[in-house]
Amino acid sequence: MYTSGMRPAHSHSNWAEIDLGAIAGNVRHFCARSNARMMAVVKANAYGHGAVPVAQAALNAGVSWCGVAQAEEALELRRAGLDCPILLLGFAPPARLAELISERVSLTVWEAGQLHKAAAAAQDSGQPARMHLKVDTGLGRVGVSPERATALAHSLTDTDGLQFEGLLTHFARADEKDLRPTLQQERRFRDVLDALEAGGLRPGLVHAANSAATLVRPQSHFDMVRVGIAMYGLDPSANCPCPGELRPALAWKSQLTHVKTVPKGSGLSYGHEYITSGEETIGTVPAGYADGYRRAGEKVALVGGEPVPVLGRVCMDQFLVRLDDVTGAAVGDEVVLLGQQGQARLPAEALALRWGTINYDLVCGIGARVPRVYV
Ligand SMILES: *Cc1c(COP(=O)(O)O)cnc(C)c1O
Repeated sequence: MYTSGMRPAHSHSNWAEIDLGAIAGNVRHFCARSNARMMAVVKANAYGHGAVPVAQAALNAGVSWCGVAQAEEALELRRAGLDCPILLLGFAPPARLAELISERVSLTVWEAGQLHKAAAAAQDSGQPARMHLKVDTGLGRVGVSPERATALAHSLTDTDGLQFEGLLTHFARADEKDLRPTLQQERRFRDVLDALEAGGLRPGLVHAANSAATLVRPQSHFDMVRVGIAMYGLDPSANCPCPGELRPALAWKSQLTHVKTVPKGSGLSYGHEYITSGEETIGTVPAGYADGYRRAGEKVALVGGEPVPVLGRVCMDQFLVRLDDVTGAAVGDEVVLLGQQGQARLPAEALALRWGTINYDLVCGIGARVPRVYV
């Protein structure tokens, strides 16, 4: 039985508790499982967990690289004093190139035009530009085609100021039961690598695997794995769950701000979409869509160690729950929007399903105004 005990005084309306010990434990799990180096993918504010503390914890636990999606994310890590190798996995806006190169941020490239701009910026910053050549083996977002990859690699190595540091690709379907599309991508990637090696052009760092491929396809690890979602203890997909040893690092919590009994027939929240069917005990939770708690879907939260239904419309800053099944609920009691309370569990995967989305989207969508509290 869950007991609220002393009713701790919470300082926030709603907050995300991040367990950096879980991040470290999850990193150690991957480091022990693979001979490859590990990149911690900390784009999108570390999937909502907080980029700098997560990167720091992951580096202390054994990762050697951090991966980000946007220029500003790379520079944020540098400003925080992180000195590790950083790969910008996404597009580097030409206007930011000199700054990125000066800050020793490695760049992902897939077109000749990017090489020329980076070479000019490298000259300006008096530093070589470290380049990872991205091959599109079947995801269809960015990347040079396998046919043109060798020629582009030669242009790269022939251009002054550019350093051919890495070769990468990204899988489209590694989280599915049927691994054939992944094996086909891996084959295309290996063919490019073989052609480069035949020309004496193998870069130092070859990498392909995201979390799903890291979990299910050791042959795809090459020199480094790029682990995002699973480092946070979240499943790449329903078909590709994390092993039991991995622990989710994030819980999203709030506290009751009002508890009342209302008579039968009361309309609740905007639009009165919910009308009580008898006398009901109603709790108010100070979290809403401005915090990333979405309006869509039928939802539950946890109060007093029990799942309680969310009633009526979710507002910008508040929503309501029915507390009939909780004995003695009172103002100040902890509400779990996501995570665990006593024996009751509300994992990101389950809440995402109710919202009609995936755990990635859910954690990235936890709002900027939600304080991240590190435990
Ligand atoms: C986001 C991303 C990853 C990490 O993917 P997960 O599924 O979260 O492990 C790896 N590589 C690239 C290029 C990415 O954009």
